[in-house]
Parts: sequence; C-alpha cells; structure tokens
Amino acid sequence: MKIWLLLTMLAQAGNASDAELHKNAIVVDTHSDSTQRILEGRDYAKPQPDMNEDLPKMKAGGLDAQFFSIWIDPEKIKPAEWYKNSIAQFDAVHAMIDKNPRTIAWAKTAADVRKNAAAGVLSALFGVEGGHSLLPGSEGEQLAHLRTFFERGARYMTLTWNNSNPIGGASRDDGQIQGLTPFGRRVLDEMQRIGMMVDLSHVSDPLFWDAIRYVKKPVILSHSSSRQLANVPRNVTDAMLKAVAKNGGAVCVNYFPGFLDADYLAAIAPLMNSLDGLSFIEKERRIAAMGDKLPKVPLKKLIDHIDHMVKVAGVDHVCLGSDFDGVTTLPAGLEDASKMPVITAELKKRGYSDQDVVKILGENTLRVLAANEVHK
Ligand SMILES: [Zn+2]
Repeated sequence: MKIWLLLTMLAQAGNASDAELHKNAIVVDTHSDSTQRILEGRDYAKPQPDMNEDLPKMKAGGLDAQFFSIWIDPEKIKPAEWYKNSIAQFDAVHAMIDKNPRTIAWAKTAADVRKNAAAGVLSALFGVEGGHSLLPGSEGEQLAHLRTFFERGARYMTLTWNNSNPIGGASRDDGQIQGLTPFGRRVLDEMQRIGMMVDLSHVSDPLFWDAIRYVKKPVILSHSSSRQLANVPRNVTDAMLKAVAKNGGAVCVNYFPGFLDADYLAAIAPLMNSLDGLSFIEKERRIAAMGDKLPKVPLKKLIDHIDHMVKVAGVDHVCLGSDFDGVTTLPAGLEDASKMPVITAELKKRGYSDQDVVKILGENTLRVLAANEVHK
C-alpha cells in the first residue's frame, strides 16, 4: 500500500472517531440569545439563515441541550415592564417547545437532559440574564418573581447583566466597584434553597469575590472567557478560575471574538462609540451588518481560551457558553451551532483524551446543574 494512501486512511479514521465522539457526547451550551428572535416570531424549527442557532442547526451540530437566555435590554424596555417581559420570553420559548414535541423538550434537571438525549430529543433549559429582570417590586416581590422564574424553567440567574442592580455591581458600569448587597445575599440564599445555579458571568470583580465566598453550592459562569488571554472586564482572571475550581463550579467559554481577542474589541470600539445613544441590541445589529468588513478571529483563539482555562482551573471546570445570537460575529469556522463538531476535532488535535473532551462538551455543566438540584 502506498504510504500516502495509508496516511489518508488513518486521517479519515481519526476524523470518523472525532465525529463519533462528538455525536455520542451530551453537548450542552449554557447561553443562547435566540430567545429574542423567537419572541419576535421566528420559526425556530425552520433554518434561519441570519441566526447562529435554530433547531436544524442544533441537530446538525450535535448540540443536545441549550439554555435559552431570558434577557431584558434595560435601554430599550421600560423598568415597569422588566418582569412582565421576562415572563413573555419564557412563554415564547415554551410555545416553541410545545410546537415541536418530536424535536425538543423542556428539561428541568440534568437527568432530563440525559433522558432526552437518549431518546434523540433536544433539550431546552432556561437562564435569566441579569437580576434586573426581578424588578419592579419590593424585595419580597422580587424573591417571589425569582421563584416564578424557577417554575417557568430558569436553572440559573446571572446576578447582573452589563447594568448593576439591587443584588450588586456589574462589570460594565459604575457598579464595577460594588460587591454583593444585603439583598443580594437574600437572593443567593433563595436561589440555593430552590435549586437555581448562581451565574457569575457579567458581574463586577467585587461581586464575583463576595458571591463565591458566600455560596455553598457550585457556581456557573455561563458565558465568560479568559482575561489572561483577552484583557476585558467581562472575562475571568486566573485567580477567579482557581476559585471556581475550588468551589466545584465551571466556567463556560464565550465564543464572541471581542472576548477572545482584545485587539478585535479595540478595532470595533470606535464604531461602538459612534453608535452612542442607540440601544445595545441596535448597536450589535449595526455592527453585525458590517459582516466581512470586521476583522476575522480564527477558531484557534477560542481553543486557546479553553486550553488556558483547563490549565488553570482543571478539565473538570471548563464548559461551553457560546452566546449564539447575542454576538455580532463568531470565530471563523464556528459561524453557527451546526459547526460545533470543530471544537471536538480541535481539542482532539491538541491531545485531549475522549473523556476530557466529553467533560468540556457538557458533562461539567450537567454536574454543576445536578449539584444545585434540590430533590425533596
Ligand atoms: Zn451576556
């Protein structure tokens, strides 16, 4: 046999096993902003060319479970509507699930995700992005809102989005020097009592440290990358990664080029500033519309972040939190959810064992989810 033929066959065998590994793994993503488009009436069961994710893309990408983000744009929606609009978002995703019972099912527990995956059915879970969704209301009313979110499916709440709220400070506004408030402690108590993961993406550094010292269960960071590799406040430092490892939690890497490559963020900063006055979502739309004019960030950057996070925190504490449909662009080669197998292939190329790849793809998230569950 000619040597090139043998090499080709070996390479193909390698690819086949990567594909098999990806297919057999339970792949979980902790953060998708498709919710906003579903609320606008998009049919998630049909291919949506301008979206990063939809049910056909999930199927094609072997993405078994998605946390749908419930997110209120505080610049666009009046404070009086925040809680009400959050509920409308839950309703829209639930209606999508109900319309597609053969394809996707509501998962309330890690066991539900496993059961659905075994039956070849996708799983939908929920996360609330930002404690401002609990408003308006007294502290007691906000805690009641939290319990309703849990009943509607929320299995994590990100303590803040870019805006600070009564729980504590955010990483992207004046609250960056503010930590956990007394009310924030009540919220954490209630989340852990009912079985909702505490999500520390987006929060200020002081809030991160206050919360991780306060919690008794493993935390999640639903969509954050490494600050060592890309120095932006939304990312986590190595000290934070180590603290999450000690806590038993997991940090799910964000695929947004601006969080993977500080140069990319610097390149789009003047553009972002020129759009001052527009809502966050409108800014993102305008920038996304620039498409090919934006600098390209290679997939390698994303894998570098995973690699670094694994080196610092350990392979049991890293997971995937794409931010699909919440970002203006994605790394080249990972343009949408159907391309997820490239992550498995790249990790294998870097020498990761099958077992470690499976942990990063979903097992770590399922472990943290299960550890937060309260079974009466
Ligand atoms: Zn976010």
